[in-house]
Amino acid sequence: MAELISKLETKKINHIIQKTQQVAQKIDIFCSAILLQTWRRMNYIFNKQEIHSSLKRRQGNCLRCGRCCQASFKCQHLEYDKNGLSLCKVYDQKPLMCSLYPYNEDDYFFHLKPTCGYKYDDE
Ligand code: SF4
Repeated sequence: MAELISKLETKKINHIIQKTQQVAQKIDIFCSAILLQTWRRMNYIFNKQEIHSSLKRRQGNCLRCGRCCQASFKCQHLEYDKNGLSLCKVYDQKPLMCSLYPYNEDDYFFHLKPTCGYKYDDE
């Protein structure tokens, strides 16, 4: 009986550890996304020319996954069509920072870099 209780407690503890790790990972992603969003705006203010130059090396296309539009908070203009592809409700007037994403090889939300349709030539 004591062994069973011990097994159950171990299972419970493992479950708590797993949940804690998941929450920590979400917090990590959220915080890093906020930091990148702040950094990329600041960087753009001071390095416009360099950024427009690096954009010329951008290859590929947006796959319309919409994940960058909800890297931290979900954008209020984000919608999905019936095929599950993202739609920007203000596409024609969308903010410059959205159009420029990702503007160089460092301008990716780290958890989205492998799946984003845009690539840089040295990757
Ligand atoms: S993460 Fe990349 S592929 Fe997905 S919507 Fe953003 S720019 Fe497009």
